[in-house]
Amino acid sequence: MDAQQIQELQKVVPGRVSTDAAILSEKSTDFGRMIRRTPGAVVRPASSEEVAQVVRFARSHRIPVATRGEAHTQTGQALTDGGILLDLTSLNTMEGLDASAMTVTCGAGLKWMDLVAATVSKALIPPVLTNNLGVTVGGTLSVAGLGVASYRYGAQGDNALELEVITGTGDRVVCSRDQNGEVFDAVRSGLGQFGIITRAKLKLRACRMMTRTYFLLYDSLPVLMKDATAIMASDRFHYLESWCVPCPQGFRKVGNEILPFAEWFYPLHLTIEYDAASPPDDGAALEGLSFYRKSHVGDRALLEFSNRLEPLFVVWKRMGYWANTHPWMETILPWQMAAPYIQQVLANLPPTLLGGGHVLLWPCRGTTSSIPNFMTPPGEFVMGFGILPGIPPEFIAPAKARLNQASDASMMVGGKRYLSGLIEFDRARWKQHFGAHWTRVMALKRTYDPDGILNPGFIDYGE
Ligand SMILES: Cc1cc2nc3c(=O)[nH]c(=O)nc-3n(C[C@H](O)[C@H](O)[C@H](O)COP(=O)(O)OP(=O)(O)OC[C@H]3O[C@@H](n4cnc5c(N)ncnc54)[C@H](O)[C@@H]3O)c2cc1C
Repeated sequence: MDAQQIQELQKVVPGRVSTDAAILSEKSTDFGRMIRRTPGAVVRPASSEEVAQVVRFARSHRIPVATRGEAHTQTGQALTDGGILLDLTSLNTMEGLDASAMTVTCGAGLKWMDLVAATVSKALIPPVLTNNLGVTVGGTLSVAGLGVASYRYGAQGDNALELEVITGTGDRVVCSRDQNGEVFDAVRSGLGQFGIITRAKLKLRACRMMTRTYFLLYDSLPVLMKDATAIMASDRFHYLESWCVPCPQGFRKVGNEILPFAEWFYPLHLTIEYDAASPPDDGAALEGLSFYRKSHVGDRALLEFSNRLEPLFVVWKRMGYWANTHPWMETILPWQMAAPYIQQVLANLPPTLLGGGHVLLWPCRGTTSSIPNFMTPPGEFVMGFGILPGIPPEFIAPAKARLNQASDASMMVGGKRYLSGLIEFDRARWKQHFGAHWTRVMALKRTYDPDGILNPGFIDYGE
């Protein structure tokens, strides 16, 4: 953007535009800390009408617009080099909580943490919460929003009832499954490519105020997966989460390199929501499961459970992990291919590559999400797998090479990448990712962002 364009933009949305160097610098990077792109101006809109005015202005001047929530994505998904950065955290109002209809309406920049605190006080909760509640409603709806209850309720985008959207043409569209369904389907898991979500009406469910978590440990991934299918089929737990944890075994020679290696174990945390007056029957809950060890059983208030990773994030911030680079590689695998793929990747993963981060496992039913842009492999069950390193910038190149290799290998076995992390796709990989949906995705781009001003550069449409 040149100086004259900035002046004009200031007239379009007076008082909302910043070109302050400190603000531009603050908004020039994301959680990945691998890419720096400095916007020409940052706009903090006060209404959806202001978002529409900015988009129309940008369109008339062919200026790129990047939409940003908390920028917890990692490969520049919410950054722009010289364009307009729309900082949607300004649209953070709770607009209505309808306890009888079990819905909540909010600005797209509201943080899930604030939304959940308000709903749980009314004994209601969004069916799906991600592990990190310090992100925006619009940000997770635009990727998918997966959590430890997704095996029952899909992604957060599946639990959106109605969205207000400003498309790349500057039009305001209110959409749902039944009204303007094409826009509804475009913006959920749409990465800000087709429109900007300004307001969301979301489903809630009745909840119980206490939780009990069983901390189980497995020494075999196939055994964990067998138990996970039984758990998902029975609905006896409300939440299911899992990891791969390394037990370092020292160093070994691989080719000409001396590398650390590990034996891997698999925690499985199973949680039941309950009323304080009727705690769960532990024997019945764990009956028939073949874990290697039960390491702990713990009770927490539901709100504390929803924020259960906050203590980990405090540790991550204290030890420097948070400030490091994060080339996260998350993929969703066909169930049958999951164990051989994961075991192969872990056998070659030096545990030091994680830099204190972890390896996620996410067993899920394959049929709970129906968002067209959210790609998952077919099948009754799928397995999410995420390598989440936090490493000093000087080690990023070899780490990225290794993680991109794991990404390609996952796609070769039919996996679909989760698009918030390290995504370095060329056009062939984008085509492979969207598969039969590729033509539809390109058509949506042409219809709703005909001038290609929304978040250009991330998806290679090749046009
Ligand atoms: C510690 C940590 C834990 C995480 N855990 C999980 C997890 O458990 N499950 C999970 O699913 N994800 C998880 N993530 C990923 C995270 O949920 C996504 O990166 C999410 O997009 C972050 O929201 P945000 O507000 O930071 O969005 P941003 O990163 O700011 O934006 C994400 C994308 O959406 C676009 N966008 C943002 N707001 C809007 C809008 N209103 N309208 C249209 N487009 C928009 C942006 O342009 C960008 O392309 C985690 C990330 C971190 C760092």
